[in-house]
Amino acid sequence: MKKFLALVLAALMVFAFVACNGTGKDNNGASNASDTSDTSDTSDTTEKATLIMATNAAFPPYEYKEGESFAGIDVEIAGKIAEKLGMTLEIKDVEFGSIIGGVQTGKFDIGMAGMTVTDERLKSVNFSDSYATGIQVVIVKADSEIKSLDDLKGDGSMKFGVQQDTTGDIYASDTIENGGYGKDNVVRYKTGADAVQALKTGKVDAVIIDNEPAKSFVKANEGLSILDGDWVKENYAIAIAKENTELLEKVNGALKELIADGTVKAIIDKYIPAE
Ligand code: GLN
Repeated sequence: MKKFLALVLAALMVFAFVACNGTGKDNNGASNASDTSDTSDTSDTTEKATLIMATNAAFPPYEYKEGESFAGIDVEIAGKIAEKLGMTLEIKDVEFGSIIGGVQTGKFDIGMAGMTVTDERLKSVNFSDSYATGIQVVIVKADSEIKSLDDLKGDGSMKFGVQQDTTGDIYASDTIENGGYGKDNVVRYKTGADAVQALKTGKVDAVIIDNEPAKSFVKANEGLSILDGDWVKENYAIAIAKENTELLEKVNGALKELIADGTVKAIIDKYIPAE
């Protein structure tokens, strides 16, 4: 704690020095201190009071809106991590596809959105240790002629709805030789909820999405069902800017403790009751 205070004091002194010298942009003293810390060295979030998390809050039970506030597994785990880091969590609800870019540029400290670790994403950001697993599944209308995963075809006879930029999108849009259905047969929506809506209105024949959101959507919408079988298994983790290794270590440290003391499991169990 002492070290943290010393760091804050040191940061304030540097700020005061810059402000007094008139080189600190056009700010006029301490009242702008928080603005300055936001726009200056975003790579070191440990000295900030706020931990900015980017998410796409249309992915229940991991993140969704409850009135004006956010709820879900990621929201609660992030809250506990922020608490351990002595920071306040601030959530930004953005398009899924802009999370990685925003984390990369330091606009957001962490990206937490039921986000799967992929080799492609690892080229842009680091990922924390994994805190949950996901499985890609396929939702169809309950009365659909598509009865099993084997019935899915990329021959132009059916359309696949996905949330854009997600792994469901990436896999489905791949070529048939690579196990996908061809990008011409894939319709990309901003949210998983939009893709499910398109399924209900017959614009697409199947939706490929992570299993827990799939279950939530099927529960909330009559006449839908999930095909038996797992399409692809994945690990969820927290995206952090590559240069921000200090935050990565702290987040991993906090996660380790939260996993060891059962907090992560309790949060997951609260949102995903055993069947
Ligand atoms: N797990 C999927 C991915 O990382 C979907 C995440 C999401 O839609 N929020 O691409």
